[in-house]
Amino acid sequence: MEICLGDVIKMKKPHPCGSYEWRVDRVGMDFRLFCLGCGHQVMLPRRQAEKNIREVRRDGVIIPASSMKTKA
Ligand SMILES: [Zn+2]
Repeated sequence: MEICLGDVIKMKKPHPCGSYEWRVDRVGMDFRLFCLGCGHQVMLPRRQAEKNIREVRRDGVIIPASSMKTKA
């Protein structure tokens, strides 16, 4: 799955604040995610984050995670 800096990702499970949406602030081995509901920041291993993504919003376009097949 290709996640880019600045993407907004929608998770399968909500954050305790009720928001499903996170902005991607850093990509690499770990993702740094910024909760759009409460502003909380978390670091997550890439693999764990990818597993929980339902869809990605990039430039206003919603991309279902199922259509973002990972290559590696
Ligand atoms: Zn939150």
